[in-house]
Amino acid sequence: RARDIGARVAFFEPRMHEEVARRVLQENRVSRALQEAEFQLHYQPRVELKSRRVVGLEALVRWRNPDGTVDPPALFIPFLEETGRIVEVGRWILRQALEDQAEWARRGFLPLPVAVNVSPVQLREPGFVNEVIDLVAQIEGAPGAAACGLEIEITESTAMSDIARTSAQLKTLRDHGVAIAIDDFGTGHSSLAYLALLPVSMLKIDRSFIATMLEQKDSRTIVEAVISLAHALGLSVVAEGVETRAQAALLERLACDQIQGFLIARPMDAWSVTAFLPQAGRT
Ligand code: C2E
Ligand code: CA
Ligand code: CA
Ligand code: CA
Repeated sequence: RARDIGARVAFFEPRMHEEVARRVLQENRVSRALQEAEFQLHYQPRVELKSRRVVGLEALVRWRNPDGTVDPPALFIPFLEETGRIVEVGRWILRQALEDQAEWARRGFLPLPVAVNVSPVQLREPGFVNEVIDLVAQIEGAPGAAACGLEIEITESTAMSDIARTSAQLKTLRDHGVAIAIDDFGTGHSSLAYLALLPVSMLKIDRSFIATMLEQKDSRTIVEAVISLAHALGLSVVAEGVETRAQAALLERLACDQIQGFLIARPMDAWSVTAFLPQAGRT
């Protein structure tokens, strides 16, 4: 492996040497970030249109640098995926989401399901499914803990690649009480036959369609089609990236089940999001 890297570096331009050096530096930063708790989870609520209630939360990772600046996932997830470090960081994300959930329950809030984004690189790890099942059992098995519900979001393209393996993995997760959502729906290439076979409970319509559906007939047609498809398959459907009342009103007319987006709330830290959680005895 080291020889391989050496051989490749020899062909690089000086600028590329710097790129390699920067990557090594960044990889070291990942270990430090895990040790020093620089990763942080933010949560964004999801609201059911019919009842206007918060019915779930999505965990979204952030990287807080020592200088106080915060990096969004677009700046580091691709790098973590390329280097495989997403496996370790993803493990931390799952554990942290379940621990935050347990903490909210201890503080007297009613449990709501938390959705965690899972990278295709994590799903390709042979031990992934068992790890998730063990983790849920460990945290929900602790004294006084309640089963709160874990959901996993995988993108449409992840779901549709290596369908036999993916569907077996998802079935095992579902059998252990983990719900599956297909993220960014509408941006990949779905086979309807496969979609019907996958043990999925929710489709999330990609933000790009929601952002343009009021002005562009094509986007609106896609939103309508995804909602009917989801309902025909017995799935619930979530619109992501809802920013305006006009968008929410149209989605309600189109019988979309749930919305998520800045109109409801921006992603916020684990403490702030408790303002959106129902409290025990006050429902
Ligand atoms: P995603 O899963 O599609 O997450 C939704 C993104 O849309 C989030 O960006 C969220 O902050 C943003 N968003 C929510 N509502 C609105 C809105 O009304 N308007 C606009 N303009 N944006 C909105 P974020 O947190 O920057 O995450 C970006 C992507 O990074 C996520 O897209 C997901 O693919 C990935 N990601 C985030 N957290 C994780 C994680 O823990 N693990 C993995 N593997 N990927 C993650
Ligand atoms: Ca997501
Ligand atoms: Ca999405
Ligand atoms: Ca997305």
